[in-house]
Amino acid sequence: MIEVKEYKEATTKQDSVFGPMLNAGHEQVVFCHDHETGLKAIIAIHNTVLGPALGGTRFWKYNTEAEALQDVLRLSRGMTFKASISGLNLGGGKAVIIGDSKKDKSEPLFRRFGKFVNSLSGKYITAEDVGTSTKDMEYVHMETRHVTGLPESMGGGGDPSPVTAYGVYMGMKASAKHLWGNDSLNGKKVVVQGVGHVGENLVKLLTKEGAKVSIIDINDDQLKKVSSDTGAQVLSSTDFYDMDMDIYAPCALGATLNSDTINRLKCAIVAGAANNQLAEEAVHGKMLSEKGIIYAPDFLINAGGLINVYSELTGYNRERALQQTEKIFDYTLDIHGKAATENIPTYLAATRMAEKRIADIGRVKLGM
Ligand code: NAD
Repeated sequence: MIEVKEYKEATTKQDSVFGPMLNAGHEQVVFCHDHETGLKAIIAIHNTVLGPALGGTRFWKYNTEAEALQDVLRLSRGMTFKASISGLNLGGGKAVIIGDSKKDKSEPLFRRFGKFVNSLSGKYITAEDVGTSTKDMEYVHMETRHVTGLPESMGGGGDPSPVTAYGVYMGMKASAKHLWGNDSLNGKKVVVQGVGHVGENLVKLLTKEGAKVSIIDINDDQLKKVSSDTGAQVLSSTDFYDMDMDIYAPCALGATLNSDTINRLKCAIVAGAANNQLAEEAVHGKMLSEKGIIYAPDFLINAGGLINVYSELTGYNRERALQQTEKIFDYTLDIHGKAATENIPTYLAATRMAEKRIADIGRVKLGM
């Protein structure tokens, strides 16, 4: 059974090669190197009790190799919980390729990476992530069938962002129902931070329902486009945390829920798409709950993208992916209820629920 520990605490003991992976509960970590193509990648398989470990490949210019390892361990662990709580028969995995995605990408590099993925015989299934695209996955696919997130023309699900946005919307509505007894977002003041692939789709859903949406992004062109398409109001400053709002939806970066911002936040609900919103899970999850802010755990409500790629494994059908994503509403309500009953932060309630399913299904598989 996976121990629910604060990730930072679990990985600080780096006194041995195995230390970081053992402490975070990983099954396998694969270091991949190819001199010819310059490939340096790490594949981390956290847990495969529920099924093959699925998670995207991040292409990132890490400052150090230790930083890349830390990132892939953290991300793959998050995927285990995301898949479990979404009721998917998938484990948690992730890969990182160390390099500059603007300069270092090439067909041979991705095909070499595909060979490494293939060597795991389906124990790890890859997909696109930050710094990689469906085009890159086409190259990976030339060397392995263990890849999802392919273009629609190849039988894939295409861009998962609209499905992710729909799940976030469901999680937001469930949080509203938990707090106000009604899931309507009509007239609610919502700030969406980051109107990229997911944020833009979320703003469309919110404005359609009559929410009063304000948007913020560092990309002015995108801000103007989303504002003119949806009527959302553009905020002039990125420093909006103490603004009067009902709901804050982080859809840009991680770690925006930290000691500084939580002290300033006046909203009632936080529900957004960004991964790893809590700078430090234990510290900031608790801070939010002590402040009475209802937090919809990111890995629960942004699972639509994962549900979408999972659907590719059995023959893609967007309707089915959306139906499965709609269940995020009920899951989120359950988590808020459990957190309130047990008087614990929501991130912890969600992690425990995910962990319980892994333990229960693990026993079923062993015939216990
Ligand atoms: P994206 O890159 O398309 O959009 C992110 C947007 O945030 C961009 O428009 C960018 O300009 C903006 N941004 C960056 N820094 C900012 C800042 N400091 N302040 C305001 N805006 C800023 O990414 P996306 O695919 O929309 O994903 C958004 C978040 O959701 C990411 O954290 C991602 O990991 C997470 N997520 C995405 C999916 C998916 O299906 N795309 C699934 C799960 C989680």
